[in-house]
Amino acid sequence: MDFEIISPATCKELKQMLINNQGKNIRIGAGFTDLIIDMRKNNPVDLTVINLSQLKEKEFTTVQTGENEIRIGALTTTAAIIKNAYLTEHFPVLTEAASGLASGQIREVATIGGNVCQASPSGDLSCAIASLKACFEIMDMNGNIRTEALTDFFKGPGKTNLCKNEVLRSIVIPVNKGKINKSGFIKIGKRASMECSVVSLAYHILAGPDDTIVSAGIACGAVAPTVVFCDKAAALLTGKKINNIPYGVIEQFAALVQQAASPIDDIRASAWYRKEVLFNSAKSIF
Ligand SMILES: Cc1cc2nc3c(=O)[nH]c(=O)nc-3n(C[C@H](O)[C@H](O)[C@H](O)COP(=O)(O)OP(=O)(O)OC[C@H]3O[C@@H](n4cnc5c(N)ncnc54)[C@H](O)[C@@H]3O)c2cc1C
Repeated sequence: MDFEIISPATCKELKQMLINNQGKNIRIGAGFTDLIIDMRKNNPVDLTVINLSQLKEKEFTTVQTGENEIRIGALTTTAAIIKNAYLTEHFPVLTEAASGLASGQIREVATIGGNVCQASPSGDLSCAIASLKACFEIMDMNGNIRTEALTDFFKGPGKTNLCKNEVLRSIVIPVNKGKINKSGFIKIGKRASMECSVVSLAYHILAGPDDTIVSAGIACGAVAPTVVFCDKAAALLTGKKINNIPYGVIEQFAALVQQAASPIDDIRASAWYRKEVLFNSAKSIF
């Protein structure tokens, strides 16, 4: 391998490095848990790695809460997500997804931004934030910020619509009104830890004071080339009484989740198995 690592401490330095390295072979690194594997595999030549882990800007590194939305800096680690009391109270789906990711050591360095930009169909944090209908703030080399809906961001395994000299700055999650009634993350893997999902299902369902569902977000992972948004299944729930959903509707809901998936047979599981597990996982929410 032939590479150099440069580490900006400020946004100004980061922008300058992006400008100086236009047209060159560059990669962005954060926790390096995916990137180092990728570099070993591809044996890069004349590569410059811009290491974001020394960046101190709060937009990149902190969780900022507001009345209508929260911003999670792209460099927020999986461990920091688990420790954040606000996220645990308001977005249990994200905390649960983070708690099952890899191992304690990896969680200390693996960032939410890295999980998203890796664009793995089995990315646990990506799946959780899909159920939360997040969008992304992306910075270019001039410091301009564009906002991108999560639905438009993932283009295939390992592919996003990030341009070469752009970095993900933050993940923005809307704060919807309603009490959290059901919010969680189901992860099916071959082992309890250090294992990518064979199937995952994220759900975040809010109900009003009379227990009517006012908002539902459902997403699944490892069952298609990208994380999947189960919009039809989520729409079916809206307006139903959360504690009194007829069994027939639950089955219809699970079937819609299953239909959103297009898994393949691979080394870890067959497409048939994934679809069956997804159907049963969806039913088990209620
Ligand atoms: C043993 C092991 C087990 C694992 N288990 C799981 C698991 O159970 N669930 C799971 O979801 N993942 C798992 N992973 C994958 C990995 O830990 C996560 O995807 C992690 O969140 C990636 O974050 P990172 O900060 O390490 O990213 P990096 O490795 O630094 O980067 C990953 C990719 O994102 C890009 N990138 C990073 N940050 C930015 C940014 N701000 N802007 C633009 N591009 C950026 C990089 O260029 C690279 O392409 C596992 C990995 C290992 C090695």
